[in-house]
Amino acid sequence: MRSTSRARACLGALGLALVVSGCGATPGSSDGPDGTVVTSSSQQHATKAPTSRYVLAISVDGFNRRAIAALGREKAPNFHRLIRQGASTLNARTEFERTITLPNHTGMLTGRRVEAAQHGHGVFFNDDNGHTVQDAAGHFVSSVFREVHGHHRKTALFASKTKFQFFKRSWPGAVDKITIDLDNTRLVAKTRADLVAHPRAFTFLHLSLPDAVGHAKGFMSKSYLRAVRSTDKRVGELIRTIRNHRRLREGMTVVLTADHGGPKGSGNHGDMTRRANYTVPFIMWGAGVTKGADLYDLNPGYRNPGKERPGYVARRQPIRNGDVANVALTLLGMPAVHGSEHDKRQNLRP
Ligand SMILES: [Zn+2]
Repeated sequence: MRSTSRARACLGALGLALVVSGCGATPGSSDGPDGTVVTSSSQQHATKAPTSRYVLAISVDGFNRRAIAALGREKAPNFHRLIRQGASTLNARTEFERTITLPNHTGMLTGRRVEAAQHGHGVFFNDDNGHTVQDAAGHFVSSVFREVHGHHRKTALFASKTKFQFFKRSWPGAVDKITIDLDNTRLVAKTRADLVAHPRAFTFLHLSLPDAVGHAKGFMSKSYLRAVRSTDKRVGELIRTIRNHRRLREGMTVVLTADHGGPKGSGNHGDMTRRANYTVPFIMWGAGVTKGADLYDLNPGYRNPGKERPGYVARRQPIRNGDVANVALTLLGMPAVHGSEHDKRQNLRP
């Protein structure tokens, strides 16, 4: 939190928005490939004009937000810049039910909780099981990819774990490009090239290094902090690309969060009741973003949960990593993901 206030001052000029703006008037798909009609109250809310043409969503796998302060501005200049120049909180929440990779990324892409019986996405598991999100849920599940596609805009998924094939399989026609490369440096180079070459509305980038090193050497260990420092450099490369291209500089918003954290000294983040696991950063930067703002100050409809781990009953929810899908659509001027829950009214303002 300390670093949030510090960072508040200066993230201004660059929009790293992860959400690409949609421009069509067509609503997102209202029925699934299986023909199930999906109703969503979110569709009844008028969407506002787009503030972004492009959204870049970045998920830093296993990102303990305390690493930002531990490294300081000198060793993590780009995370600090995003906070200074953007709107952020270091006290967002994961999905309530799980603090592991696949369930939380499914939440980010669908805007749903995990529990299938409560209209969730049903992905409790953490490995690609060869099936789809729809199979896990037992009902049709839309995604930010599908909604963007429904507005005749393009999408891409860049990931550093093979299990992300699960998402391409789940929405085969709506993920226009998928690139999986386990080397984060190469993956970011490919992402940057694609941002420049193709004006996609929504690009999702997953960076695995902090999680991999956290498992091997312990979260918040020296090796872990080096991994976060390396990730900061990758983020800096993305910022440079956005800055250097007018189209991106003027039209792109970056949304950066994490699937989960990881406790200091431990190599395991599976306990969803541990604060270090369920607390994640949520940072927006770039086009349409309030510079130097704390997201909870900016959004009184959300409640800063302090140290708590709130469920889904409270009217005022914490900001969650699962808000990525709908805030991206808000930035793009598109209605919420059909059947979504997190920020379904698209109240979260950057
Ligand atoms: Zn992990």
